[in-house]
Amino acid sequence: MPAPAPAIEAVELAKTYGKAARAVHALTGLSFTVEPGTVFGLLGPNGAGKSTTVRILTTLSRPDTGEARVHGIDVVRQSAKVRQLIGYVSQKPGFDPVATGLENLVLQGRIHGASARDARSRAAVLLDRFGLTEPGRRLAGTWSGGMQRKLDVAMSLMHRPRVLFLDEPTTGLDPEARRELWAEIARLARADGLTVLLTTHYLEEADHLAARLAIVDAGRVVAAGTPDELKTALGGDTIRAGLVRQSDADRARGVLGSIPGVGAVVTEGGALQARVSDGAAVLPGVLATLEAAGIELASVGVARPSLDDVYLHHAGRSFGEADRIGAGRAGADREAVLL
Ligand code: ADP
Ligand code: MG
Repeated sequence: MPAPAPAIEAVELAKTYGKAARAVHALTGLSFTVEPGTVFGLLGPNGAGKSTTVRILTTLSRPDTGEARVHGIDVVRQSAKVRQLIGYVSQKPGFDPVATGLENLVLQGRIHGASARDARSRAAVLLDRFGLTEPGRRLAGTWSGGMQRKLDVAMSLMHRPRVLFLDEPTTGLDPEARRELWAEIARLARADGLTVLLTTHYLEEADHLAARLAIVDAGRVVAAGTPDELKTALGGDTIRAGLVRQSDADRARGVLGSIPGVGAVVTEGGALQARVSDGAAVLPGVLATLEAAGIELASVGVARPSLDDVYLHHAGRSFGEADRIGAGRAGADREAVLL
């Protein structure tokens, strides 16, 4: 018997917006696979191509070249069939603020063809499931951001999809609401066997939530695996140091880079990060060299690699830097800011 198809397959997806000099190559050959019943993260800075990928997988946009399938079904040729299998929560809110939570859910169910009775009973189950039964009678526009986000997710589940796409689900939420939504998302995969693909530009979110992830940069996957695999594959350690004087940053980078055993060095404001083969062995020399150069440190530490280091290694710049550049380009994050 052939192995069951993956829940999601993206094969060499390419997509360019605009023409000639103004062309934006949003996707440049992006591939990944997601196993059923798992949470998969597409992690990338603003403008990396995450939403474009999700729009293609949810049949809202077509790739120029490449293929994608959901449970073996082609998203271009059999888009209606794919739409029955999937739920989608876009970066922008999808609920109606002047309807109650319950009304939003029931309407969503009716759009998907459920009877009024079935829609009401499914809505009640989902409201209960997300702890929204009591506020469910109030206008959704009066709810907190975290509750509204849960409502969007509940709406996407009304027709019992097998695969759920969440585009930046926690952008704009406060840390507590973010943690709560993380718990809900993890539960959906664990308890309901749902496959969840989420996009995020929060390293911490991908690290916490995704069983496997693909790091996306400039329209392609630069690294994929479990968060642990990605960090372990990098080997070595990271030295992080805080400078007393931010104006020392450039000089400190030069000094550090010339020390044997020290690899890529990045500075962000008054913070320095350096990849080293063996943190404990290299640290004394690093401290002595910086001191000799008259560069004072406010803090210093050795840590195992983070996803930020993984990104830096594969993309050649730090995640935060890429995120800011991406956000400044063509309003790529405008949707997120509106949340
Ligand atoms: P992400 O979701 O990772 O922030 P997007 O997929 O939204 O990235 O965007 C990838 C690139 O494509 C960005 O440079 C963005 O400005 C551009 N882009 C996205 N949608 C459009 C569009 N409809 N028209 C033109 N350019 C677009
Ligand atoms: Mg996006």
